[in-house]
Amino acid sequence: MQTVKKTFFDKVEIFKFGSAPIGKPVMTVRNYWLEGLLIDTAQINARKIVKKTFEGKTITQVALTHWHEDHIGNTDFFYEKYKPTIYAHPFTAKKVQEGFKVLPYEQYMFGRINPADIEVSEFPELIITENYKLLPIHTPGHSIDHTVFLEPKQGWLFSGDLFVSTKIKYFRKGEDLGEQIDSIKKVLQYDFDVIFCGHYPQFKNGKSLFQKKLQYFEDFYGEVRSLYAQGKNLKEIMRTLHLKEVYWLKWATFGDVSVAHMVNSVIIREQKLSKEKNLVYIKTL
Ligand SMILES: [Zn+2]
Repeated sequence: MQTVKKTFFDKVEIFKFGSAPIGKPVMTVRNYWLEGLLIDTAQINARKIVKKTFEGKTITQVALTHWHEDHIGNTDFFYEKYKPTIYAHPFTAKKVQEGFKVLPYEQYMFGRINPADIEVSEFPELIITENYKLLPIHTPGHSIDHTVFLEPKQGWLFSGDLFVSTKIKYFRKGEDLGEQIDSIKKVLQYDFDVIFCGHYPQFKNGKSLFQKKLQYFEDFYGEVRSLYAQGKNLKEIMRTLHLKEVYWLKWATFGDVSVAHMVNSVIIREQKLSKEKNLVYIKTL
């Protein structure tokens, strides 16, 4: 089943795409269209409905937030049909061009990415449409290429997967909590009110929602760091903080999504930081 729901916010057209081989979609993906600029291209499993939805629409530019399969799935289709300029981080570009295999749960929900001969440009200083100017801001942590787009005059933040929720309880493998904290701090230096999230848009109080998320992340990070400094390992830290693994999710995703990944990302960063500190210490001796 492929589904789409279209709504508006001011001049921004919002598309919510769902896809599932059987029954109702488990998770939906949001794409945004603004004066010929398309932000992200949805999952390949929704291609039929994506094609139909954008029939007759003008698309001159495409900007990609990051390489995950639910955000770039139809880039090849848009490139071939509309010949837009496609902007992305070099890492996203590589993934789009070379394609990649996905895990069975990702295949089921979103679909794999096939290699495609697509020309991708690096982000300009500003992405410009007729009436709007969007500033690309590199915000790694959820993925190394993650980039958000800010329309400062309107107070709009096209945030990819940087927001999603104020309380994230588990991580995908490779996510970095410390980097996400730095990235949230980076966007909080700007003013905005609307979060055009890749999954759950928020039409007001965007900045305070990000502040909430930052507080939650910093508390979580601080607790894990201090327990780790006391010599506790992953299991002991999870037990002390009463963090329970969500086993069905861990199993269903072949270990790709888990509570432990979130805790571990703090441990890995702390190990890296202390190694770097030691190196500096040795150098200054
Ligand atoms: Zn993502």
